[in-house]
Amino acid sequence: MRRRTFLSLCCVSAASLLPGLAQAAAGNSGHRYAMLVDLRRCVGCQSCTVSCGAENAVPLGNFRTTVSEYVMGGVPQERRDPVVAVVPRLCNHCEKPACVPVCPVGATFKREDGLVLINADTCIGCGFCVQACPYDARFLNHETHTADKCTFCAHRIAAGLLPACVETCVGGARIFGDLHDPQSVVCRMLAAYKGKVATLYPEKSTDPHVFYLGLDSYFTHADSIPQPLPITPVRRS
Ligand code: SF4
Ligand code: SF4
Repeated sequence: MRRRTFLSLCCVSAASLLPGLAQAAAGNSGHRYAMLVDLRRCVGCQSCTVSCGAENAVPLGNFRTTVSEYVMGGVPQERRDPVVAVVPRLCNHCEKPACVPVCPVGATFKREDGLVLINADTCIGCGFCVQACPYDARFLNHETHTADKCTFCAHRIAAGLLPACVETCVGGARIFGDLHDPQSVVCRMLAAYKGKVATLYPEKSTDPHVFYLGLDSYFTHADSIPQPLPITPVRRS
């Protein structure tokens, strides 16, 4: 199945195509969106990072998603090169998001379809949610002066499209879909790899809905992961 047509088969309702906050708050009820990142297929090319930035007008130096690189410990002495792990990072659209209850004005909210979003009209930029997120998935946008993060490209979902990062992933490592549709690729893969799929920091009890296949056990506990390598600054010509 072509990925571009995938979401059009997810019964996107006519109502979901309407703009407006009321619709945005409800989302596509009856669905539960999630992503599976198949790390066996990620080549660390950052196509997802670039396409997300362009799609969502993310300011330079900020990221709604990026692929972090980590030098892993325990490298055998005889190996010359360090082992580098690549882990695409983004908002996990948690079932129990730590960012929601701390927002003093209700600007951060979770939709019925699982998307955790920010109402930029009411966000006061206090940054409580940025501090509360255990995954460092949020930032304060210095252009809008509001909290910012991945939305799973909610505007593209509403138009029956896949998130930009999924559409442009050269390795097909990012798989997005509806957990309420047993025929969706994400559902079938989660079933096929049951017991081999992990989430980041399950001990935080946020119930993340970005799943990883092939995740090193280092990453399943917040305190054990190595520091990511510094991001190379983008140079303007
Ligand atoms: Fe909130 Fe962070 Fe979970 Fe995203 S990853 S829903 S920002 S707690
Ligand atoms: Fe809420 Fe905005 Fe403050 Fe985050 S920065 S807690 S979304 S008001």
